[in-house]
Amino acid sequence: MQTDLVAALDIGGTKIAGALVDGHGRILVRAQRPTPAREDGDTVMRAVEEVLAELTATPQWSAVTVIGIGSAGPVDASTGTVSPVNVPGWRAFPLVERVRAVTGGLPVELIGDGVAITAAEHWQGAARGHDNALCMVVSTGVGGGLVLGGRLHAGPTGNAGHIGHICVDLDGDPCPCGSRGCVEGIASGPNIARRALAGGWRPGPDGDTSAAAVAAAARAGDPVAVASFERAAQALAAGIAATATLVEIDIAVVGGGVGKAGEVLFAPLRTALKSYATLSFVRGLTVVPAEMGTDAGLVGAAAAALARRGSASGAGVG
Ligand SMILES: [Zn+2]
Repeated sequence: MQTDLVAALDIGGTKIAGALVDGHGRILVRAQRPTPAREDGDTVMRAVEEVLAELTATPQWSAVTVIGIGSAGPVDASTGTVSPVNVPGWRAFPLVERVRAVTGGLPVELIGDGVAITAAEHWQGAARGHDNALCMVVSTGVGGGLVLGGRLHAGPTGNAGHIGHICVDLDGDPCPCGSRGCVEGIASGPNIARRALAGGWRPGPDGDTSAAAVAAAARAGDPVAVASFERAAQALAAGIAATATLVEIDIAVVGGGVGKAGEVLFAPLRTALKSYATLSFVRGLTVVPAEMGTDAGLVGAAAAALARRGSASGAGVG
């Protein structure tokens, strides 16, 4: 007997990935296009439609009962629209309506990409078995999502847990979001690199000025590189501690490119958490690296769609 499948879309500023996913989170079919991020909205949508056309042409499509979309944000799940910062052609773009139009009117679940990653980590990754968790992606930007009471907490618009844009520095630098002193402005990869360069760190002969290069320098003992990661860790710790104090999470999962820096990030992060997460009910908070790989967005979008239908067979999808 063929079980229900979900068609998952992971829409980012670089690529549009699609997959057919089963109730165990296994990816059966894949399709992908580059995101024509600088083009107009209909051109971007055509790339999504090409991905969907590949999926709908497969024999397995007949078993698809629901569609899950994780998109770069902001998204608005209440209106089915998306306005990804890195895709200027899409502003309040009616993505859900347009996807339904080419998939026979199947139900569509839309969430932000940080929430999708969280669903994936909770289903199959580092937050598995945890009823209250914060999962974060720290890379070019900083995003996140929450699991509360054993269920994914996407919020009314699908953006809950967006820890990158909470303020941890009252008089800090203005943020493109309109606020100032945001976690992202201190802890993102580009900001780790920017701060290291401003402090006098210089890249090696290959000229690589990415956060990964700063991480390599920090591992080799470069004090400016170490300090830049410590500052990023401090911002992440303040954000995580605030979240834990508000909603009582017991684990924070950190992924993304910066999350791959290892102990260069996690050692100062654990130290800083001790100074910010101080009340009795948050002292047991642990912080760990993410476990899901590049498929996290697809698996998470599938998890959220299956959870909405109440048919996911994985533990704890809600
Ligand atoms: Zn901000």
